[in-house]
Amino acid sequence: MSQIQNQSNNSPHILVLGMGGTIAGLASNPDKDPLQYAAGQVEIRSLLDHIEFAIPEGVCLVSKQLANINSCNMTETLLALLGNAVREALENTMVRGVVVTHGTDTIEETGLFLQLICGKFAQNLGKRVVLTGAMLPANAPNADGPANLVDAIQWAASPLDNSPGGVYAVMAGKVCMAMDLAKRHTTALNAPIQNSPASPVRLINPSWLSGVKAAQAIWVEDLPIPDGDTWPWVEILTSHAGARPESIDLLLESKIQGLVLAGTGMGNLHEQWLKPLSNATKQGIAMVRASRSGAGQVLPNIPEWDFEGCFAAGKFSPPKARIALQLALNAKKQAKSAGKSLTWQDFFARIAVLPEIG
Ligand code: ASP
Repeated sequence: MSQIQNQSNNSPHILVLGMGGTIAGLASNPDKDPLQYAAGQVEIRSLLDHIEFAIPEGVCLVSKQLANINSCNMTETLLALLGNAVREALENTMVRGVVVTHGTDTIEETGLFLQLICGKFAQNLGKRVVLTGAMLPANAPNADGPANLVDAIQWAASPLDNSPGGVYAVMAGKVCMAMDLAKRHTTALNAPIQNSPASPVRLINPSWLSGVKAAQAIWVEDLPIPDGDTWPWVEILTSHAGARPESIDLLLESKIQGLVLAGTGMGNLHEQWLKPLSNATKQGIAMVRASRSGAGQVLPNIPEWDFEGCFAAGKFSPPKARIALQLALNAKKQAKSAGKSLTWQDFFARIAVLPEIG
């Protein structure tokens, strides 16, 4: 399952979990057209072989391939597999830190997911979980993956005096909290991190660090991981010119449990949707109002759009709000089995207060 590099089997190590992505991608004609490639082709072991010379003395690596996919095809089953593998690794006293190589398309969803299911655990143990990826395939002339991987390994292995344990992401020479990742460019080398509050990875910025500590102080308890096939069905619907009520009516005939509404501007919704959305809440469908704008916050309590029980997504993009809603619905279900009557809104409120790092 795993390979040991550099040192003996029983020395503390960094576990590198491979999920695929462009960092493991291959272009058919890399010199001419590096952006024509297939993601998830190269094994994590082989990616590590190529950077062995750059790994600092004393750092021992173990790798495990969990998947090798284009992350546009990420599944909930794979999220659960990754979440359980990371938690297990954190519990292992021989593991000093964890690096996850991941496609950048959905890295922001995985980043928030890992924060919510093991952010506190990692912090309490003083260990780092570090997501990384690349925008150019492994065989491109200026591939960015090797440098990103070396930086991520170093950040996972470096002493805690420059920043606490927790769930981070490293790319293009920067580090941010994994929950702050947001891919907002199709090709820029720093696409997933360019709009995130981040610090240069080799020279930690004190104000970023105090923001990390503030966010970690607020996140007091991790949420359970839904079992592979019990993830609540939550869809994202985008409001737009010419929105039709039928799009929602059709969904109401299904077994959907939650809706994330990607509104315009501050989370505004087309008036054509108001009636079917109010029917949806009466049917018990959980609803979160987010924005398709790409940055900024959606504030709560706008009477025109906040149907009873609908929650504003705060700083979360629609895909992140979807992960948050799924985990909140699952946490409510598990609390109910344990005899506690908490609502999904109780759990979502705990997630939504996670602050924006200034
Ligand atoms: N489509 C790729 C993926 O998400 C993009 C990347 O990794 O940059 O797997």
